Amino acid sequence: MTRQQLTQFIKQKAKELSFSDCRVAKSEYLAEEAPKLESWFRKGYQGEMSYLERHFEVRLNPSLLVDGAKSVICFLCNYFPDKQQNTDSYHIAKYAYGDDYHIVIKEKLQQLVCEIQEKAGAFAYRIFTDSAPIMERVWAQKAGLGWIGKNSLLISKQKGSFFFLAEIVCDLELVYDEPFTTDHCGTCTRCLDACPTQAIAAPQVIDSNRCISYLTIELKGAAGKEFEGKMQDWIFGCDVCQDVCPWNRFSLPHSEWRFQPKEEIIHYDRNDWDELDETAFRKIFKNSAVKRTKFSGLKRNIESCQTNGKCENQ
Ligand code: SF4
Ligand code: SF4
Repeated sequence: MTRQQLTQFIKQKAKELSFSDCRVAKSEYLAEEAPKLESWFRKGYQGEMSYLERHFEVRLNPSLLVDGAKSVICFLCNYFPDKQQNTDSYHIAKYAYGDDYHIVIKEKLQQLVCEIQEKAGAFAYRIFTDSAPIMERVWAQKAGLGWIGKNSLLISKQKGSFFFLAEIVCDLELVYDEPFTTDHCGTCTRCLDACPTQAIAAPQVIDSNRCISYLTIELKGAAGKEFEGKMQDWIFGCDVCQDVCPWNRFSLPHSEWRFQPKEEIIHYDRNDWDELDETAFRKIFKNSAVKRTKFSGLKRNIESCQTNGKCENQ
C-alpha cells in the first residue's frame, strides 16, 4: 500500500467507526509550546494536578512516547447528546452523560489499529484519549481539525466543540494534512464573559484552580469560600464556556449508543440528587466517567450546591 492509500484507508475506517473526523499531523517536537506550558505551570494554574508537571519533555516530544514516531493521527468523537437535563436540576457535563469515553474510544482505536496492521503489517504505536502526556488540542490543530478557542477548547468550524479528542501516535509514514491556521474567535468574548468563576485567565489560558470542572472533579477538598454562590448548580464538570460558544449553535447529536445518557441523569430532579445514596451512585455510574469523583465527591458537590443555593448569575 502507498502512503496515500494507507492514509485514505485509515480515514475511511475511522468514519466507519463513527469518528466525526480524522486527520494526520507530522510528528515533531512542539518547540513553540514549551514556553507556554512552562508559564502555565509557573503560575500554578494546574492546581493540585501535580501529575501534569511530570513528563514535561514527553508532552512536547512524541518520539519519547513512541520510538521513531512519524505521525500523530487525530480523531474527533462527537458526544453532543440528543437529550438534555432538566434545567432546574443540578448539572452534569454532557461528556459524562453516557459510558466512560476512555473505554469506548480506546476500544474503537484498538480495532482501528488491528485493521491497519492487517494492511500495513506490525508497527509501533500508542493510543491516547485524555489519558497521557500529550498535547491533544495542539495536535488536533496541527492536523487541521480546528482552532483552539479562547475557552482553550478545540473548535471545528463545521462541528463545534462537543467532541472528545483522541490520537494514535505511530511510526507509520502517512500523508499529512495542513494545519488549521485561522482563529475564528475574532472579537467574541462570550466564553470569558460567561465563565461563572472567571477561570479563563487569558484567551486559551485556563486557571484550573478556578475552573468548575477542576473544582467538582479533581480537587480533593471543598471549593474555597470565594466560589460560594458561583457554581451554577454544576455537580460534575461544567459546560458553560461551550454552551455559550456560537460555534456550538449547530451541534448535531452523536450516534454512539454507549454515549446515550443514563436515564437518571436526564430525569432526576434536585430531590432525587439530594437523596442519592452510595448504592444508587454505583448503579447509575457503573461504567461512567463520573466514578472519578467517587460517591463522596459527588455528594460533596451536591451538598455544596444545597448550601450555596443557585448562582448569582442565574
Ligand atoms: S468549564 Fe466552566 S468554569 Fe471552567 S472555564 Fe469553562 S465556563 Fe469557566
Ligand atoms: S465563545 Fe467566542 S471567544 Fe469563546 S471560544 Fe467560542 S467563539 Fe471563541
